[in-house]
Amino acid sequence: MTSVVLAAYLVAGILFILSLAGLSAQASARRGTVLGMLGMGLALAATVALALERSARPWPVTAGLILLVLVVGAAVGTWRARRVEMTQMPELIALLHSFVGLSAVLVGYGSYLGEPAAGGGDAVHRVEVFLGVLIGAVTFTGSVVAFGKLSGRLSSAPLTLPARHLLNLAALVGCGALLAWFLGAGTTAAGLAPLLLMTVVALALGWHLVAAIGGGDMPVVVSMLNSYSGWAAAAAGFTLGNDLLIVTGALVGASGAILSYLMCRAMNRSFWSVVLGGFGSAGGAAPAGGTDQGEVRETSPDAVAALLTAARSVVVVPGYGMAVAKAQHPVADLVGRLRERGVTVRFGVHPVAGRLPGHMNVLLAEARVPYDIVLGMEEVNPDLPGTDVVLVIGANDTVNPAAQDDPSSPIAGMPVIEAWKARDVVVFKRSLATGYAGVGNPLFFRENTAMLFGDAKEQVDKIVQAL
Ligand code: NDP
Repeated sequence: MTSVVLAAYLVAGILFILSLAGLSAQASARRGTVLGMLGMGLALAATVALALERSARPWPVTAGLILLVLVVGAAVGTWRARRVEMTQMPELIALLHSFVGLSAVLVGYGSYLGEPAAGGGDAVHRVEVFLGVLIGAVTFTGSVVAFGKLSGRLSSAPLTLPARHLLNLAALVGCGALLAWFLGAGTTAAGLAPLLLMTVVALALGWHLVAAIGGGDMPVVVSMLNSYSGWAAAAAGFTLGNDLLIVTGALVGASGAILSYLMCRAMNRSFWSVVLGGFGSAGGAAPAGGTDQGEVRETSPDAVAALLTAARSVVVVPGYGMAVAKAQHPVADLVGRLRERGVTVRFGVHPVAGRLPGHMNVLLAEARVPYDIVLGMEEVNPDLPGTDVVLVIGANDTVNPAAQDDPSSPIAGMPVIEAWKARDVVVFKRSLATGYAGVGNPLFFRENTAMLFGDAKEQVDKIVQAL
């Protein structure tokens, strides 16, 4: 039986690797998802089989308990997945990471309390337990704070306590000392005190680490927590002696770390400047730019339709507002009509547009926009000076010229889509409010920019009618 389970684990591990490979390109993403689901199904079945074989109780009792947990988990998961909006995806992911963290903590405690009461568990196992609980606790509270910030339950402004880096350092040094105490404890009961103390310190550390990071950096934080949750799972795999959990945890940990790195590069920030926090502020209702930026020019759907009819090349820059308005279908319709008229239309997608990596690509794929006209920021920027019209649909931070022109701006140095270089720019949004990073946008006040105020879906529908 055990060898069958091990073989199933191996196949599941390979399926997970193929799944990640598939997810690296939009065209193969669906296949990647299916392979991942197959791998997870297989892993679950093999784990249940193993649990039944090793169960100390009569097997029907174990089977009943597992079934109960599976039914409850599957019911809650299905209910949440059906209800969640695309825009709430990052907060759901953050919440799910918190579960991984919490389970690593519980697995660590469970495994430790299973040691003989007189102590004598080996040191390697104790280090595994300690690290598993440490990473799990940091992941747990960090993810809860990320969930709070992304869902608007907590302020997205960074919490900048005095000497905050020293506090983090002190927490880490304290955990090192507690590890020494834990390893030296003679009995299992005596080791519980340093383990509990470390858990409290790690919970506080996770909370503080993410609370210190501002709204604009949340995408990197979510992917960083994804990486932590992977390492927490791998640590739990070591404590449980489960090879598949080690492999899967390492895959998640490594891919999350690579994604964090790629996102930092896209924002022109160093990984450490993100992790050490303090960047970005509350998004929301502050007027764009604040001081004297001049007047904005308003336009109407009819005027935009006329502008588009006369254009030869158009670039659409989608952002978070397109997701909120669910405007992807009318936008795809508009683009289709323009292409039928011989207008060259492309999409320019910023790597952190929306609220999760690939957010815009998913929406555009859902609206059946052909992949070959969806370009990344680096591909579209060189073409913008020769473009007639740029339609900025619900994007804000990702088209902010202050990132290039204003060294004092909180988003200075972040690469942006240079919409202002086109002949005409039309910005679709409801007001002059700031975007996620809470930074004013001088693009709205440029001479070649016209604002089309209102819900993006309604306005695009009106333009389609006018066309
Ligand atoms: P922004 O968040 O900068 O701006 C979105 C704009 O959409 C707002 O200014 C809002 O203006 C407008 N909007 C909202 N609802 C509607 C609607 N119904 N119709 C029309 N407009 C609407 O979006 P970007 O995509 O440009 O930038 C993404 C930001 O989010 C970046 O700062 C990024 O760092 C951050 N982020 C990214 C994540 C990722 O992984 N991609 C994850 C988390 C954060 P108004 O209210 O006036 O309508």
